[in-house]
Amino acid sequence: MSTALLQPLQHRLAALEVDGLRRQRRSTETPCAPHVRVDGRALLAFCSNDYLGLASHPQIVAALQEGAALYGVGSGASHLISGHSVAHALLEERLADFLLPHLVAPRALTFSTGYMANLALLSALGGVQTELFCEALNHASLIDGARLSRSRVSIYPHGDVAALEVLLKASTAATRLVVTDSVFSMDGDLAPLPALLALCERYEAWLLVDDAHGFGVLGEGGRGAFEHFALRSSQLIYMGTLGKAAGVAGAFVAAHEAVIETLVQRARPYIYTTASPPALAHALLASLAIIGGAEGRQRRAHLSHLIAKFDAKLMLQQWRRLPSLTPIQPIIIGSNQAALDVAATLGAQGFWIPAIRPPTVPAGSARLRVTLSASHTIEDLHCLIDALHALEARETSEAES
Ligand SMILES: *Cc1c(COP(=O)(O)O)cnc(C)c1O
Repeated sequence: MSTALLQPLQHRLAALEVDGLRRQRRSTETPCAPHVRVDGRALLAFCSNDYLGLASHPQIVAALQEGAALYGVGSGASHLISGHSVAHALLEERLADFLLPHLVAPRALTFSTGYMANLALLSALGGVQTELFCEALNHASLIDGARLSRSRVSIYPHGDVAALEVLLKASTAATRLVVTDSVFSMDGDLAPLPALLALCERYEAWLLVDDAHGFGVLGEGGRGAFEHFALRSSQLIYMGTLGKAAGVAGAFVAAHEAVIETLVQRARPYIYTTASPPALAHALLASLAIIGGAEGRQRRAHLSHLIAKFDAKLMLQQWRRLPSLTPIQPIIIGSNQAALDVAATLGAQGFWIPAIRPPTVPAGSARLRVTLSASHTIEDLHCLIDALHALEARETSEAES
């Protein structure tokens, strides 16, 4: 092969290395849980989005096995050809019922991943007549969906309702769509959804909410951000993912029937892809029953307890915490290399906490992203807090000496 093909790739990879931006994958040998074995080592993990600890729940594992026995492994085709099964249909019914208190005439549609659900939503609802009003810290899948949609895109600063209002007031687009994460995935804070919805109602805009980190976690019943804020409107469009708190894989959109039918008819990321295995939908029925039942409530109560303890007990001098009431608890370190060094030291001590670097977060705000799960014990949490205190004290005294 000619070096002309390889050289540009090798240059770019070398540049990543120099900037502390080269990412490494590690291979887990055990199910997703706080205590894992990774590349042969036992670690205490604070990095998954398995917020309720359902990813290796025995009842959901059994449901997946039962689903495989009932429906086989592959769906065999896209939803509009022959890949749509009764398991998908039942899951969609249950999800629409679950969100019923918050939507008007809802229907739900499942997707293989949240990334594809966001591409589908923005490409099917957008177009040259549409203006999208996108929050500055939106997830990459919403940014890519906005690009794919060929809509006009206006970006408003993080959490800035007044700036959004100025943009909405000036808009002459035929269709307006405000697009936001509910829980920001690298900061852990919440979007001001009640104020956003009030604006959408005043200026006739849809409000599309990506609740990837809220579904199953927020609200008494685990219905997510809409339940947390007690929202109900026909203008709300809900996107929830099923591979985080729900512990399985996939995603869904719940919204007015007309929105869902538009997706079925027009969304290329829905139409031109093989349906996810029906057994996953079958497993998700078991997961949804747990989320909405007494066990889900208990798991959320324990998780809230862990979040409150972390908030009360972690005292930092030099590193900075972002205020967060969610399981996402970032600790800002600063430079890429410093964040990598801290993560590596914690790793040597038996903790697994990822360093998150640009472009996922702004330059100079590289951070540890601690995520808590209902499957952590209070002892797990105390181990982490003690280790963070000791490490920060050491770094501070080294910096001063
Ligand atoms: C994880 C995530 C997604 C993508 O969902 P997948 O099912 O993992 O593809 C979308 N939006 C946000 C905010 C996320 O955190």
